[in-house]
Amino acid sequence: MALDIVRIPVLSDNYVWLVHEPVSGETMVVDPAVAAPVLDAAHERGWTITQIWNTHWHPDHTGGNAEIKAATSCTITGPADEAGRIPTLDVHVRGGDTVRLGSVKATVMDVPAHTAGHIAYHFETEHAAFVGDTLFAMGCGRLFEGTAAQMFDNMRKLEALGDDTAIYCAHEYTLSNARFAVTVEPDNVALKQRMSDVVAARERGEATVPTTIALERATNPFMRATSVDELAARRAAKDAA
Ligand code: ZN
Ligand code: FE
Repeated sequence: MALDIVRIPVLSDNYVWLVHEPVSGETMVVDPAVAAPVLDAAHERGWTITQIWNTHWHPDHTGGNAEIKAATSCTITGPADEAGRIPTLDVHVRGGDTVRLGSVKATVMDVPAHTAGHIAYHFETEHAAFVGDTLFAMGCGRLFEGTAAQMFDNMRKLEALGDDTAIYCAHEYTLSNARFAVTVEPDNVALKQRMSDVVAARERGEATVPTTIALERATNPFMRATSVDELAARRAAKDAA
C-alpha cells in the first residue's frame, strides 16, 4: 500500500478519511463533514492537508471544506455536476477523469442515484475506492436524486473493481444494514456469519469499515439484487424499516 489511510469518526456516524502519500508528502481528505477533528488528526501525524476530494454535495460530506481550506490553502476537487451546490470547489471532475495524490492516481467514477452528480474515487494500484454514500457495508445510499436503475448500474460498476478492492464508505450504518439484510436472505450463511462478526465488533466499539467487494458480493442485498425491480423493492423496504 502506497498510501496511509486514517479513519476519523465524526458527527453521529460519519467517517472522514485522511489519506497520506508519503513519497510526495501530500495529504488528502475525503468528504470532511467538519474541520476541527480532521485538522487535529493531520497535525498529530505531522501531515499538512493539500487536497480535499468530495463525493457529493451533502453537508455531512462538505461541511468542513471552507474551514480546512482557510487553514491549509488546500485544493478542493469534487463533482462537476454538483459544482453549483459546492461553492468551495476548485477542480470539477466527472467519470473517467484522473486525479492524483502525489504519485498515486485515482480514476473518477460516475455513481449517480444518492445524489444526481455523485462520484467515487478508485485508486487502481491500491485496490481501494472511496465511495461516499453509494455503497455501504451490506447497504447502499438512499435514492434521493436518482433511480433504482442507476443504483443497480452503480452496483455493477463497483463489483467490477474486483473482489480484493477495499471500499471506504462514509458512514457506520453496518449494524442497521445487517439487521435488514438478514430479513431479505435469512438462509445466507455468509450473511449470518457477518452479522455475528458485526455485532461483536460494535460491542467492542470497533468500526466495521472499510469493507471489500468480496464481502459485499456475498452479503449485500443491494449488490446481490438480480434486477432493478428487486433492488427497488429492497430499497423501499429498508427505507420503511
Ligand atoms: Zn449523502
Ligand atoms: Fe452522508
